[in-house]
Amino acid sequence: MFHILVSVPVPENPASSDMLPDDLLPHARAAKGFMPEAEGMLLHRWARRRLPHGPALEVGTYCGKSAIWLGGAAREVGGTVITIDHHRGSEENQAGWEHHDTSLVDPALGLMDTLPTFRRTVFEAGLEEHVVAVVGRSEAVSRWWSTPLSLLFIDGGHGVEPARADFRGWPQWVMAGGVLVIHDVFPDPADGGRPPYEDIYLPALASGSFEEVDAEGSMRVLQRTRGDAGDAL
Ligand code: SAH
Ligand code: MG
Repeated sequence: MFHILVSVPVPENPASSDMLPDDLLPHARAAKGFMPEAEGMLLHRWARRRLPHGPALEVGTYCGKSAIWLGGAAREVGGTVITIDHHRGSEENQAGWEHHDTSLVDPALGLMDTLPTFRRTVFEAGLEEHVVAVVGRSEAVSRWWSTPLSLLFIDGGHGVEPARADFRGWPQWVMAGGVLVIHDVFPDPADGGRPPYEDIYLPALASGSFEEVDAEGSMRVLQRTRGDAGDAL
């Protein structure tokens, strides 16, 4: 009589490994911004997978809604999220446009300023240790960048020029096996603006350096399968 010992891998509980921790969910929900929950969840899931390999970088902080989904992952698995914004808003956030919020205007300047709201959001979520804000134009920062990224999330300016500048400046810094996550990708023009699709998503795939590995709503996740950080795409 003998026993055969079979080692059965214990499946990770998806509820504990993929979800934003319960205490953060109300913060993600309450934060001003443009991040549907299912897409935030996808972002969070990939950040958990990738953050052990290096920092994650977000272009387009706004008031920190997506930064909570990212920062919550850093709190769980360790790591740092860097988030870039000039905090003056995109075109569609300006007065007279669809996504304008008058409470985000600095009355002294008469200009949008989302930085104070972002600061409050991240403080209240207890994520100041994990989320580092860089205040400036994406292109001005990318010009001096050289740190390999485990995850790059592009959700900044959606005009042709800012989208092209983000494509020129950032995806090359994604490390081998790292992911480029793009928000507001609309293959059908009836659903929304073109630049994230035409000027970031399609060229990233056409470069042969990335392959699509996941999607949810208007979010696309592309993994770097050729080259490494710093190599041209
Ligand atoms: N990720 C946010 C939404 C971002 S909205 C959320 O989850 O809610 C897009 C943001 O990109 C705006 O805050 C705008 O100020 C910023 N932005 C647009 N063009 C930019 C540029 N060229 N450089 C830096 N930030 C930019
Ligand atoms: Mg967006």
